[in-house]
Amino acid sequence: MLVTTTSTRTAPAADATPLATARTQLATAVEHLGYDDGLHQMLATPRREIHVAVPLRRDDGTTVLFHGFRVQHNVSRGPGKGGLRYHPSVDISEVRALAMWMTWKCGIVDLPFGGAKGGIDIDPRSFSADELERVTRRYTSELMSNIGPDTDIMAPDMGTDDRTMAWVMDTYSVNRGYTIPAVVTGKPLAVGGSLGRGTATSAGIVHVTAAALKEAEIPLNAVSVAIQGFGKVGGHAARIFAERGARVVAVSDQYGGVRDDAGLDLERLTAHVEATGSVVGFDGADPVGNEELLALDVDVLVPAAVEGVLTEVTAPTVRARWVVEGANGPTTTAGDRILAANGVTVVPDVLANAGGVVVSYFEWVQANQTYWWSEQEIAEKLARRMASAYADVSALARRDGISLRDAALVIGVRRTAEAHEIRGLYP
Ligand code: NAD
Repeated sequence: MLVTTTSTRTAPAADATPLATARTQLATAVEHLGYDDGLHQMLATPRREIHVAVPLRRDDGTTVLFHGFRVQHNVSRGPGKGGLRYHPSVDISEVRALAMWMTWKCGIVDLPFGGAKGGIDIDPRSFSADELERVTRRYTSELMSNIGPDTDIMAPDMGTDDRTMAWVMDTYSVNRGYTIPAVVTGKPLAVGGSLGRGTATSAGIVHVTAAALKEAEIPLNAVSVAIQGFGKVGGHAARIFAERGARVVAVSDQYGGVRDDAGLDLERLTAHVEATGSVVGFDGADPVGNEELLALDVDVLVPAAVEGVLTEVTAPTVRARWVVEGANGPTTTAGDRILAANGVTVVPDVLANAGGVVVSYFEWVQANQTYWWSEQEIAEKLARRMASAYADVSALARRDGISLRDAALVIGVRRTAEAHEIRGLYP
């Protein structure tokens, strides 16, 4: 029997979808830059979209069908670059938004990449490792002629990890006839991964938070932090914030959250998550709901889970002075306006979580030259790249009297448009 999966997350209002948010952000940047409608449409429209059916034979012999997508939003500055997401709510609209944000992100941190994103509407927690491997290999084989180290390079995102990338790389390599490590980033060290990639997004978040706080002359070790999402990004961010002296007072995952105003014992909490699969039930802290976490009286709030959590309903409750967006698209357009009106400084996703793609770039460079750098070299290069991107964005925001988000978008969009113009239009 063939069963089609359906999404389990409630759909946001039409003007609060990730794609609506991404398009509004682009329109604001285009207006600031004074571009004409033709250029606006080129920047708004994905270069290529691929939809694939992904049938899976389950361990029990039944078959289930998933929908897979890959969107290459822009490749003017180099190959498409972007994550692969496994989540039941994945659809073409969400992937389009995520791919667009990748284009601007690569521009902001000045990488020779365009933007892409992929996803499958599967809940990875409901499937065995063998089933996930088969899904990944089928999806990859469907995309064989559209991905590659010089065309489109995947990386982990929500619901995928280094092991997923090893399967993508192996499937691609076996079909090509030789090993091609640079077709993915975020892969295990044993097959050409980079030191520091697993923690890069989180390290980058902490770097830009420190830079934003410095402008207010506040050291990182004087602030309290709440983090929504305790996965690859939120989990490492919590640890790195704590290592640098910040007090991490609350974290959550999709099942709920925990708080301790004195600062969470992250080592014990991590052991609890490894044992149970969630922060919920941790006996060293009090429970806190996901929406309640957004409204805690902390200095820094880091949404590091899903899109669209800071909305016209939740943004008015935010008491943090800084929102540092670890997730992609956590703030809707309405939420953004409310935060700005309330004096909250938002360090936008396309800047704040760019550390991952920066070290992905380092991984790609290393794989291409088959020469590997030390963890310290990676850490230093990442810190420099994030500091310089933050300084560019902050300087433009001050010069033009615009938000950090608008300034970041203007930089990313301008660099992309410059590449379009210099290359010219074919034919
Ligand atoms: P992950 O799958 O490792 O972790 C996601 C976390 O979010 C989990 O703790 C999960 O329980 C939680 N979560 C899921 N739905 C939730 C909900 N509705 N409410 C609260 N928590 C929820 O994913 P990740 O790689 O950490 O990615 C998180 C975000 O960061 C995504 O927006 C992703 O696009 C973005 N991002 C990731 C990377 C990367 O390198 N992994 C880079 C840049 C941006």
